[in-house]
Formats: sequence, C-alpha cells, structure tokens
Amino acid sequence: MKLFHTATDEEIRNGEVTDVYFARTIEILRAKGIKKRVVMEVKANSLPDGYEWALLVGVEEVARLLEGIPVDVWSMEEGEVFKGGEPVMFLEGEYTQFGHYETPVLGMLCQASGVATKSARCKKAAGDRLILSFGARRMHPSLAPMIDRAAYIGGCDGISVIKSAQMLGLKPSGTMPHSLILIIGEPVKAFLAFDEVMPEDVKRVCLVDTLYDEKQEAIAAAEALGKRLYGVRLDTPESRRGNIKEILKEVRWELDLRGYDYVKIYLSGGVDEREIEETKELVDAFGVGTAISNAPTINFAMDIVEVEGKPFAKRGKLAGKKQVWACKECGNRKITRFDSPSPICCQKEMEPLLKPLLKEGKLVRELCSPEEIRSRVLARLKSMKDC
Ligand SMILES: [Zn+2]
Repeated sequence: MKLFHTATDEEIRNGEVTDVYFARTIEILRAKGIKKRVVMEVKANSLPDGYEWALLVGVEEVARLLEGIPVDVWSMEEGEVFKGGEPVMFLEGEYTQFGHYETPVLGMLCQASGVATKSARCKKAAGDRLILSFGARRMHPSLAPMIDRAAYIGGCDGISVIKSAQMLGLKPSGTMPHSLILIIGEPVKAFLAFDEVMPEDVKRVCLVDTLYDEKQEAIAAAEALGKRLYGVRLDTPESRRGNIKEILKEVRWELDLRGYDYVKIYLSGGVDEREIEETKELVDAFGVGTAISNAPTINFAMDIVEVEGKPFAKRGKLAGKKQVWACKECGNRKITRFDSPSPICCQKEMEPLLKPLLKEGKLVRELCSPEEIRSRVLARLKSMKDC
C-alpha cells in the first residue's frame, strides 16, 4: 500500500497520471484504426504577473518520461530564457503513442519553470546578495527535490532540504529555528549550545527575533560568539514588523558601532523580489520561502499544429511546426516556419533554439548537471536588462 497521496515514477511513466479524455481519444482512434502523425507544440501565450521573460525548466524530466516512447521531441535547452508566445518544445509522432502524456509533460514544465523563473527574478533583484530556498514546507514533500532543483537552476545559492541537497550534490543551507531557542529557553544559551555542538563547517547564523528586540538579540549573539558569529537572521513576523528597513538599519548600525561589522544579516519571512529590491543594501542573504516554492506556474499549453505533415491547428493557434531563433549579438528573437532558412541579424545567422531532445524515444542530447545549467542561467541574467 502506498502511504502518501502521490503517484510513483512507474505510474507516471505508464501514463496513468493523465486526464481521462486523452485516454478516451486514444481508445476511439484505436477502435477506428486511425493512426495519424501529429506535431504538438508546447507554448505559453502569456506569462504570469506581466513577466517579460521566463526560464524553461523540466526538460530533463520530460526526456525521462518519454524515453522509449516512439516520439521525436525538439526542445529549447533546460534553463533557456523564453518569451510569451514562443514555442519551447514540440513533440512529433503517431498520436495514440503519446497523446496521453500531455498531462504529465505540461505538469513537469509548468511548475518547474514557474519556480525557476521566480528564483531567477529574486536572484536578479538580489544582485550579489545570496538567495536561499527555504520554501519546501509550503509544498508536498514528494515535490521538494523538484522544487529545489528548479530554484537552484534559477539562481538560488543554497537550498535547505537535506534530500534535495543530496540529489543536487550540494550541502544543505540553514540557520536555526525558533524551536531551538524556545526549548532551550533563552536566546544566548541556544546560540552557545549551537556553537558548541555543531561542526565547524556549519556557519554560526543566530536567529535574533524570538523573545526580545532584534537589535538587542543581535548584540547579545555577537557578544556571546565574538568572531565565531557569521551572521544574524531576522525572521520578524509580519504583525511585529513595522518598517523592516528601519529595523535592519538599526541592527546594522548597532553591530557596526560595537565592531561587529563582519556579522552578516540574513532576512527571511515572506520575502519576495520586491522586498529584496527594497532591502538589499542592508541584507547579505535572503531566505525565500513561499514566493519561490509556490511561484505562479507558467501556463504552457500543448496543441496540435500539424496532422500528417500538413499545418492544421485550432482557432487561436498558429498552424505548422516552427523554429525559434535568437541573435547572439543583440538578443533579438524571431519565430519562423520550421523549414525556413536561418534569419540574419547583426550580419550573422541567428541561432535555432529548438534542438533535438529525443529521436524515436532515444535521448540524443547530453543532459547537463544542475550546476552547469545554473551557471549558464546566471550569465544570462546578468546580460538581461528587463525584469
Ligand atoms: Zn542581432
């Protein structure tokens, strides 16, 4: 018996996690002996909250899902930046072989891309400040590794869940919870106990908003740990916040005044890209929770654009297989018919972004490590102006 209300890898791969109308369509086509080759395009017509761009993540999972299924898949790279209206992937094959994978393919792309995009927006807002993904608790635990992978690829510098970190080959990042201080009973005693018990490679970051004023607890932490104190974390609840910027200023001032200018300030608790923008001059690291883990999904749709080699699409969709091009020089983008020659921009041929991923169910692309993908994303974010 399964304990949790989640599907297994096997059930997903078997196509059991599908909307019944796809299964019914396949049943009807089979009964009628209809075997037609189609091209299905994955595209988001618009992006959430007026985003100018988004990151495509989930490509590796789609490759794993469809490996061994007789279908060709062309896709942008994992971590590629795309705009609303650009096809990010297309699948080509006989419909009854893969039509029922529409549900899991979209699910894999919509959520991971949403998380990665939010993470990238936070990272872009933060500049050289650190961003840590703390939001696992807002989502089902079976999804934590997927969410943390997307958050990491999008730009998060660290993630807090042990299992996620293990799967990404990272060390988990974290500080201390209020529970430690409440159970020990006094902040300074808890700070000292943390310092005494934790191995040397764990950064001493004390949580300074549990019982007293943030300024008072921060000074107490610095006095107790001296040079061993790496940072203080403010997780001030909203009902007590008032003006968080003023609180941060005060903590920084009082620490500096006493020679604790090396102590870093961490901010967590309802942080998003707006708050990062507003407070980053006073904060060294942000713990971002719900904003990333519960990020708005990218609403990709998967639609037939070709049947038996002929452009054919429903109302509101552009028929025909397409290619998306980017100019490496100026960043200009262009969508053309798939068989169009490479357009010219900045006196050079533009680069095609949709590239083969699976050929007849066989993986034909090297899947990069999350670390490599993240480095590419970070380089891209730096070169982009709009948010
Ligand atoms: Zn150009």
